[in-house]
Amino acid sequence: MSMTTQQIKVAVAGASGRMGREVVKMVLEDDALQLVAAAAPSAGPVDAGVFAGKPATGVIASATLEEALNGSGADVLVDFTVPQAAYGNARTAIEYGVRPIMGTTGFTPEQIAELDELCKRKEIGGLIAPNFSIGAILMMKFAAEASKYLPHVEIIEYHGDQKLDAPSGTSIKTAELIAEVRRELRQGNPNEEEVIEGARGGYYNGFRIHSVRLPGVFAQQEVVFGGHGQTLKIRHDSYDRAGYMPGVNVAVKKVMTYSGLIYGFEHIMD
Ligand code: NAP
Repeated sequence: MSMTTQQIKVAVAGASGRMGREVVKMVLEDDALQLVAAAAPSAGPVDAGVFAGKPATGVIASATLEEALNGSGADVLVDFTVPQAAYGNARTAIEYGVRPIMGTTGFTPEQIAELDELCKRKEIGGLIAPNFSIGAILMMKFAAEASKYLPHVEIIEYHGDQKLDAPSGTSIKTAELIAEVRRELRQGNPNEEEVIEGARGGYYNGFRIHSVRLPGVFAQQEVVFGGHGQTLKIRHDSYDRAGYMPGVNVAVKKVMTYSGLIYGFEHIMD
């Protein structure tokens, strides 16, 4: 079989965005992958290669995902768009038989369950991954482990001030992993009162999540545990978007091998 017939055909939603441009670049730099479609609602009919600072590819960005996928033969969609668009994009991809890899955050548990069902019906794979970086996956894993022994925990996540959703998808995923193994406990003083609303952060299963939004910050998270006379901090810092691409590359290849929607990159890591 020639290289070309083995290539996985990739569509990119949000191709003009900061993450999307990295995805386009990653796809163009991997001979096992072929860029076949790109969507970006307000960018105009620009060649996707140009977004990524690469030579023209012949793949022109479409205003809608439907237009981009139609007749593209795409095997996989990689989506880094906005929370309001992500669920609809995942559904559209599945309707076209295209495996959705959703890097965009903000999915509800109900939406995840529904997309899983739709993927299974079409007998295709899919992935929702709030975080594609190995360090963040390990931070979540270690945090869950620590919560078995130190159940008093708070999560502080830091992102740029233009981020649309709060708390971050990574912090929600971390909280879910902690809640699965931590003994039930409602932390803090039961008579505690917030003098300024929101001061104690978002409540999740007995503990709190705090979202810091500042210009200059990229993506960081600290999980702080408190015990007798001690604290433990597990912290992950992301410095640039290229750091997510090895994970996205693995996901594009792995999603071809299973059926149903997986939530969390950790489940497909070797
Ligand atoms: P960005 O630079 O603002 O790019 C957003 C992209 O989405 C642009 O291409 C934009 O196209 C498109 N878009 C905007 N509104 C849309 C709509 N209504 N429908 C469809 N597409 C739309 O954002 P970013 O920094 O690349 O981040 C994108 C997403 O990835 C965010 O949700 C972020 O939280 C997430 N993220 C995930 C990970 C992970 O590891 N999973 C890592 C980093 C970021 P136009 O320019 O044409 O409007």
